[in-house]
Amino acid sequence: MFFFIGGIQPKTVLVDKQPRSCPACGHVGVYQKRVDHYVSLFFIPLFPVKRGTPFLMCEKCNTILDEHGARMDFEQTRGENRCPSCGRTVGRDFVFCPYCGKAL
Ligand SMILES: [Zn+2]
Ligand SMILES: [Zn+2]
Repeated sequence: MFFFIGGIQPKTVLVDKQPRSCPACGHVGVYQKRVDHYVSLFFIPLFPVKRGTPFLMCEKCNTILDEHGARMDFEQTRGENRCPSCGRTVGRDFVFCPYCGKAL
């Protein structure tokens, strides 16, 4: 963790306040959100520099869906791999799993 006075910060914004029902748990509490990147100064977001892709997230089970309501793997969108042996999330440029040592 590091601190900075000015820089670019991600900020999650609520795009649509209308709740939808969750295909995973049935809870009506899926909201459309977007992660925008803001230029900030003294931790106060000033203006947006990058608009994120809208996604839907269930407030109950944290299932993430794309804007059409299809489930998506959040790790995949962040450019990470999953170890086929132990199932943990591993950075894309790892050749060996740091947890179990298996070649990826
Ligand atoms: Zn849910
Ligand atoms: Zn592993």
